[in-house]
Amino acid sequence: MRSEIKLYPGKINLITALVADKEGKIFELEGYAAVGMAADDFTPLSTGNTINMPYGGEFMLLPDRSPVVFNLKTNRLETLKENPYSSGDPVFPVAAFNSPGYVISHVSAYREKKTAKHLPLFSYGAVGWHEGGFRTGVILVDSEKRQDLRLMPPEKVISGARAMKKKMPRNRLRDHIENCALRYGCPAAKNFFLGRYEAPLPTSKNCNAACIGCISLQKESGIRNSQDRISFTPSPEEIAEIALEHIGKVKRSVVSFGQGCEGDPLLAAHVIEPAIKLIRSKTGSGTINMNTNGSLPETMERLFDAGLDSIRISMNSVRKECYDAYFRPKGYSFSDVIKSIDKALDKKIFVSINYLNCPGFTDSTEEQAALFNFLKRHPVDFIQWRNLNFDPLRYWKKMSGAASVSGAAGIKKLLSMIRKEFPDLKHGYFNPPKEKF
Ligand code: SF4
Repeated sequence: MRSEIKLYPGKINLITALVADKEGKIFELEGYAAVGMAADDFTPLSTGNTINMPYGGEFMLLPDRSPVVFNLKTNRLETLKENPYSSGDPVFPVAAFNSPGYVISHVSAYREKKTAKHLPLFSYGAVGWHEGGFRTGVILVDSEKRQDLRLMPPEKVISGARAMKKKMPRNRLRDHIENCALRYGCPAAKNFFLGRYEAPLPTSKNCNAACIGCISLQKESGIRNSQDRISFTPSPEEIAEIALEHIGKVKRSVVSFGQGCEGDPLLAAHVIEPAIKLIRSKTGSGTINMNTNGSLPETMERLFDAGLDSIRISMNSVRKECYDAYFRPKGYSFSDVIKSIDKALDKKIFVSINYLNCPGFTDSTEEQAALFNFLKRHPVDFIQWRNLNFDPLRYWKKMSGAASVSGAAGIKKLLSMIRKEFPDLKHGYFNPPKEKF
């Protein structure tokens, strides 16, 4: 870790560091600037590389870790073992879990203590304090209000769930989505009951990957999964009933297979294919989308022929070694994923990449070069920039163990380089309706 940072007086408006005490109380540390990290690169945060914290973000205290801050007097980076203004009092790093539509440019800066365990499955954005408000190291990639909590009043979600229960009392999928909306607070499930944008169609109990960051199933990892996986396979009729309800009342609607509360939908194609045909036998409206790992190209082709409009393929990297280190595929290989993408492009299906982003890795020289090469050979339509929900230090270790990782260009620079090199490629966060393809 470089400790001395050269400053350009007057040019940079540094923001104040935030730490938390052992009760979890967050406070600013006068005399110290906040710092963001991207693998081994530590950068003081300023008004130039942060924005006002978007509404809906949450704060997290990072246990068994020490914050890295920038001492404005000594012009040096420091790892704080205790509160510099109250000797003996421990302080902890603070991170921001930012709201949807914002991609992280800097991770909260910290060092692990020996006792540190794996962090839960969230993303850990850098955050600081400035002129009476919080600022975070993020970049806006999608301004759509699809998951803006201010537009999703809980009482309306509850009344919507009640109305759907009356309308389709025996639909097990409706019951499952109700649990997701009311118990887990899933925005996609809430939007179904609010009649907005995109509705979820979870179907699959199983998966043929074992992602280290899987939010629906964690085995022997010491990490808790964020929600439980669906425990049954809905029938084509139950799926179509939910989809037709949503399409029937929402303009530019999207209905999506492949949610956080299931395995991979391709392993439930035996119910999805007839469900799509059932939906399309009733209406041509709405966009039928699938979020998937893209592992089964032949199955994908059958679903395209059935009427699937768009796919979103999840990837943390387009380099096989890094992909395998994260997805841990069982019975398929990265080349199958590529085959699925090429089949979709051949059939003019709208293809998005669900790009699991982590500063320090995603913007590394090797990742950038591999991505450019991939985009030239497989001209997908859209990149959805998703913040990787995983312990950043352990992720960098895992990825640099799988392949070479060097030189972080910065996510902002990476985004502008991609926009320049691939002007037709769209960027965002949410699955677009076909009216926006
Ligand atoms: S592909 Fe999805 S469901 Fe399967 S292991 Fe990965 S995150 Fe979990």
